[in-house]
Amino acid sequence: MANFWENKALSELTQSEWEQLCDGCAKCCLHKVEDEDTGIIYATNVICQYLDVENGQCGQYSERSTLVPECVTLNNDNLEQVYFMPTTCSYRLLAKGKPLPEWHPLISHNKESVHESGNSVRDKVISELEADDLMHHLTGEWE
Ligand code: SF4
Ligand code: SF4
Repeated sequence: MANFWENKALSELTQSEWEQLCDGCAKCCLHKVEDEDTGIIYATNVICQYLDVENGQCGQYSERSTLVPECVTLNNDNLEQVYFMPTTCSYRLLAKGKPLPEWHPLISHNKESVHESGNSVRDKVISELEADDLMHHLTGEWE
C-alpha cells in the first residue's frame, strides 16, 4: 500500500497526516533578513526563543501565532506560503512533486535522523534572546 504522502495531495491530508509530515528540522523558525534594495532574503543562525532546539518542537505551539505574529502556520489555506519554507521542508518538497528524503522520520522511522544527518538546526543556532544585530548572524542566501 502506498504511503499517504505519496497518494494524496497536500490539500487532501488529514490533520494528523499533516502534522506527521513535519520533519522537526525547525529551519522555518530561523530569523531571516531581507535586503531592501535587492529583495534578496538571507538566513541567519538566530532562532525563535520559543523553539526547543533539542527536539525541534515549538514550546508555544498553540499560542505561536499570537506570541510571534510573523510565525507562518502552514496549512491548506495558505499553501502558497510553502515557497517561503526551506528547500528541504517536507511540505515544499511534496508541493513540487519531490519525494521525502531518506533522513525524514517517516522514511527512517527514527525521529533523530533529521538531526543526525545535519538537516536540522540543532547545534547550529543561538536564541534570539542571546543574539545581537541580525546582520552579524547571516549564514547565506535563503533559497
Ligand atoms: S521547515 Fe517544514 S519540515 Fe522543517 S520544521 Fe518547518 S514546517 Fe516542519
Ligand atoms: S513560535 Fe514556535 S513555530 Fe513559531 S517560529 Fe517560534 S518556535 Fe517556531
